[in-house]
Amino acid sequence: MYSSHSHRNPLCPTIAYDVCVFGAGPAGIAAAMRLAAKGLSAVLLERPMQRKPWGGESFTGAIRTPLQALGCWEQFERAGHRCVYERQSAWGSEPHVESSIFRMDGPTWHVDREKFDEDLRSAALARDTG
Ligand SMILES: Cc1cc2nc3c(=O)[nH]c(=O)nc-3n(C[C@H](O)[C@H](O)[C@H](O)COP(=O)(O)OP(=O)(O)OC[C@H]3O[C@@H](n4cnc5c(N)ncnc54)[C@H](O)[C@@H]3O)c2cc1C
Repeated sequence: MYSSHSHRNPLCPTIAYDVCVFGAGPAGIAAAMRLAAKGLSAVLLERPMQRKPWGGESFTGAIRTPLQALGCWEQFERAGHRCVYERQSAWGSEPHVESSIFRMDGPTWHVDREKFDEDLRSAALARDTG
């Protein structure tokens, strides 16, 4: 972690940040964006790696609350992820059917996870998170 109050050597310039966040997944990106919103400088570091192709994931409607808090909800709605009103899942048992009619937080989203992460990163960069 680098502190903005750290000693700076003019012969060896360093860029100082208040916080260094390791891992540019949704949690890391959200943390960096929230820090930036509070006026702290944050750098987000991702390890170089070849990611396996990442399929879709499902989010409940509860995803709206954190995305609104980050100011990314409108971007999410425009991104082309699929909104579904009923889903079935089976975890080694009989299929479980869930209808969004019974959920206060609205329908489920089938999300292109790579695009979701990429959009969050772009939003963070646009706010100069680092
Ligand atoms: C097969 C599978 C299916 C899933 N399906 C769903 C689903 O349908 N719905 C759902 O809500 N959730 C699902 N999940 C869970 C969801 O993917 C995770 O909850 C979510 O990715 C966690 O986000 P995160 O930011 O905490 O971590 P991650 O998304 O894992 O991000 C962590 C990041 O940190 C980076 N990193 C790690 N170590 C270092 C390091 N030393 N230095 C720098 N960077 C580093 C990694 O490269 C990665 O980019 C699924 C998970 C799996 C594995």
